[in-house]
Amino acid sequence: MPPRDLALLHERILAWFDEAGRDLPWRRAETTPWGVFVSEVMSQQTPVARVAPAWEAWLARWPTPAELAADAPGEAVRMWNRLGYPRRALRLHEAACVMVERHAGEVPDDEAALLALPGVGAYTAAAVAAFAHGRRATVVDTNVRRVQARLVTGAALPAPALTRAESRLATQLLPDDDADAARWNVAVMELGALVCTARTPRCEECPVADRCVWRLAGSPVYEGPARRSQSWEGTDRQIRGRILALLRQTRDPLTGDDLHAAWPLDDARRERCLLGLLEDGLVEALDGERFTLPR
Ligand code: SF4
Repeated sequence: MPPRDLALLHERILAWFDEAGRDLPWRRAETTPWGVFVSEVMSQQTPVARVAPAWEAWLARWPTPAELAADAPGEAVRMWNRLGYPRRALRLHEAACVMVERHAGEVPDDEAALLALPGVGAYTAAAVAAFAHGRRATVVDTNVRRVQARLVTGAALPAPALTRAESRLATQLLPDDDADAARWNVAVMELGALVCTARTPRCEECPVADRCVWRLAGSPVYEGPARRSQSWEGTDRQIRGRILALLRQTRDPLTGDDLHAAWPLDDARRERCLLGLLEDGLVEALDGERFTLPR
């Protein structure tokens, strides 16, 4: 893209973000790198409206990695409550332990060290480097991918999985300056979350509508492979969630009979889900007959 066109995208999208970006608690100036790290792990698969109160409670209880690391991993699973995908709580606890052991209790500031932490993938490492430490890092989430696909590539939706070409494009679009690049990342994510949404983009509110390749081509419909939506009702994920919900309600160990209420319809399936939770380290068996969150 010619530098002048790129500069115009930067100017307009950053100005739009200054006006329209949400005041999310982890975006405030006083948020610590640890607060940013927790927000990124929580937001991976959970909408921000559900993350915000959980994030506030988490940071109130464990304001630093050292405080979380000193507590039992089961307490992290308990506090995770209903955010979903609770293995993230265990990984967050493990990451806090590594920060204490190898990084003097701080969130590392370079992507390679972040990537070496438990539960941290390329997206989270880049996001924390950018948003916690103001680094020029390429942050590519689903919102960024969708905006790029439409605005620059002219496709209704990106490919089902991230491609190298998309990552390369995201890097090419980054402003040169560290601080601008960090703001650009969050601004494009926000544009995707609020305006360039998956089903019905609000192009009339978009600051770069007159530059959007997809819109200028007449908004052609998506013709790629069908997208799978994740179901919840009646799935193993739901049964696992119910077992954990029972264990969160008490600090006393529960028996297999106590856990019956989690899914009375099918004993074999419930037991299979319990076994999966034990294998994942989310539940601990005390004597083969009683179960608790990990201690
Ligand atoms: Fe997305 Fe519409 Fe803006 Fe294009 S014009 S980037 S499709 S919101």
